[in-house]
This record gives sequence, structure tokens and C-alpha cells, in this order.
Amino acid sequence: MSAIIIDGKRVSQKIKDELKEKISKIDDKRPPCLAVILVGEDPASKVYVKNKKLGCEYCGITSLHYYLDENTSMEELLQLIDKLNNDDSVDGILVQSPLPKHLDEKYVINNISPRKDVDAFHPINVGKLMIGEPIFMPCTPQGVIRLLEEYNISIEGKNCVVIGRSNIVGKPMSILLLSKNGTVTICHSRTKDLKSVTKQADILVAAIGKPNFVTADMVKPDTVVIDVGISRTENGLKGDVDFENVKEVASYITPVPGGVGPMTIAMLLENTYKGYLEFYNQQV
Ligand code: NAP
Repeated sequence: MSAIIIDGKRVSQKIKDELKEKISKIDDKRPPCLAVILVGEDPASKVYVKNKKLGCEYCGITSLHYYLDENTSMEELLQLIDKLNNDDSVDGILVQSPLPKHLDEKYVINNISPRKDVDAFHPINVGKLMIGEPIFMPCTPQGVIRLLEEYNISIEGKNCVVIGRSNIVGKPMSILLLSKNGTVTICHSRTKDLKSVTKQADILVAAIGKPNFVTADMVKPDTVVIDVGISRTENGLKGDVDFENVKEVASYITPVPGGVGPMTIAMLLENTYKGYLEFYNQQV
């Protein structure tokens, strides 16, 4: 039997509707506010930023957008971040990656206030996640967890295999699965006999960036397969999983597009709302 398709578009819409409802009830304060900074002209980044803006507008979150010239200096960018860090009407700050080569991305992230770091990339937020005291949840991995929850897929005691160990997806994904009591294995480009590891998975998360990398022979029957990968190919957006064949083996599977992608934005909006609530709690 073919796998159940996990509908990230539907779940993200539900989350946005819930947020919209909560935000519409705010009558005595300003609405939440997200500041997004885009440096340069990267076409994919422009699409991501536009979608974030649309998400904010839908939910009633104020969105401030800063489109900076490709040649913006580090000093100018840090000045803007500093201004936003100190602006009490801003709850979240996001700097769209990748930045132009002359700008040091790590240094830029380190300068965002951890309390406004809605991407959860700041080392303080990464550390807090490690010790189980997160301020913000990392958007894409948390989006995966929410999808599993929405489909009543239990993580506890399951063999969870994550392919990819990046700081933005693979590593935080593994920590979140561990925090839900999964037994987690992280694979990467040096993993020996990858197939023998992925075959052990009850839940398999692919975050590699190589289209159709995960084939049906790498998946045991009834595995839950989550595809984080997004690659732009001449045939459109493709995930890391050979969807057509793997869906015949898996129990659940996420499509690309329409799986994890929409959840990332929904989690970003949730983080902005969370930052907003925490700001007002601190004022009391
Ligand atoms: P990344 O930084 O390039 O990391 C890719 C990971 O895959 C690395 O850890 C790498 O291992 C591993 N890898 C590469 N080739 C491999 C192989 N042959 N066997 C096993 N592991 C291999 O990418 P990323 O930022 O994590 O993103 C991964 C994918 O997710 C991309 O397609 C990206 O576009 C997508 N993404 C989607 C969302 C979303 O919202 N859906 C959000 C973020 C990213 P090494 O560490 O050994 O090099």
C-alpha cells in the first residue's frame, strides 16, 4: 500500500490560522513585529523573503523589510542590527542567508540579540537547545516535529536516522528527536555503508541537498520518511527522496514541495509571536 502523504501545506495553514486568531484578539498593545534583512539580489532568497512577508501579513504580524545593496559593509549591517536589537517594537530579527561573500555570516548572527533571534541560530540559542531550555525552537526541525505530532506519529523509543549534520537542519533536528526520546543516529558524507544505517530507521529524515538521493532500497517497509531537501532542478523543486518509489515502501512521507517547506515559515511566525509574548511578560 502506498504511504500516507503528510500535508505540510494544510498543517502550516492551520498553524497560521491559529496565530491569526490569537493576534486578532490583541486590542490593547501593538501587534508582533518581525524585521527581515536581505542583502543583495539572490533570486531564491528574494522568494523566501517574499513568502515570509506574505506569512506575516496573513497572520497580522507587522513585517519590516530591509533590502540592502549587495555592497553593504559589515559596519552598516551591524548598525542596522544594533538599531533593531534596541527597538522595543521589534520582536524578531532575521538575516536572510546566504550573505554576500564579503560579510561574515557567523559574526552577523552573533550580533543579533538572542531574545530576537527567531531563527534560533545564535550560539546562546543553540546552547540552550542542547540543555533543553530553548528560547526559540529552530524553525525547520521544529516544523518536522510538528508534522509528526499532527499525524500522531510517536517518536519515543523509535530509531530515528537523520542524514545531514548542518547547524541549521541536521544537528538541531537530531537534538529535537532526542528530546522526544527517539534513539538518534546522525549520518553524513563520511558515514560508511549508509544504506545499512538508513535501513534501521523507523523515522528517516533526509537533509542533504541532493535530489532523489534516498532510494526505495534504503528504506525498510513502514518507515516514516521526512524530506527536508530542496533542490532547484530543470524539472522544478526536488527533495532528497525519490518520492515516487519510496512512497511505495514508507508508511508516511512528506512531498517536496508542500511538506516541510511551508512548516518552516509557520514556525518562524510562531517564534515571532513567542518573542512578542515574552517581551510583554518581561514588562510586567
Ligand atoms: P548542508 O549544510 O549542505 O548539509 C548537507 C549535509 O548532507 C551535510 O552534513 C553533508 O555531510 C550531508 N551529505 C552530503 N552528501 C552526503 C552523502 N553522500 N551521504 C550522506 N550525507 C551527505 O545543507 P543544509 O543547509 O542542512 O540543507 C539540506 C537540504 O535541506 C538542502 O536541500 C536545503 O535546501 C534544504 N533546506 C530546506 C529547508 C526547508 O524549509 N524545507 C530549510 C533548510 C534547508 P558532511 O557534513 O559530511 O559534509
